[in-house]
Amino acid sequence: MPVTYDELRKELLVQERDLAAQLEAIAHSVREDGVGYSNHMADVGTEVFEQARDVSLARQLRRSLEDVERALSKFNDGTYGICEACGTIIELARLEALPSARLCMQCQSRREGTR
Ligand SMILES: [Zn+2]
Repeated sequence: MPVTYDELRKELLVQERDLAAQLEAIAHSVREDGVGYSNHMADVGTEVFEQARDVSLARQLRRSLEDVERALSKFNDGTYGICEACGTIIELARLEALPSARLCMQCQSRREGTR
């Protein structure tokens, strides 16, 4: 059975909540485990590494969250599922795999090809 926009919207809402929760957890751990609090010298390297990893993960999560929020806002102005570049209706199978997709398959691959 093909997926409906309503189901995709629900999926996006779940993702939004999920991403926000993950971001909050990371922000918390970055604050709490600040580098320099450790008494063991050997742990400092690990903490720096983990913090750097958290920062890049947080950046990635924030970007995903922005995509999800952007997709959700499109439900309000009625442009959800429409390619931002060429205005074609994005294939449902693609939206099912990636509900926050902003481009149709053709535009996406063209963009990746020119990168
Ligand atoms: Zn397109």
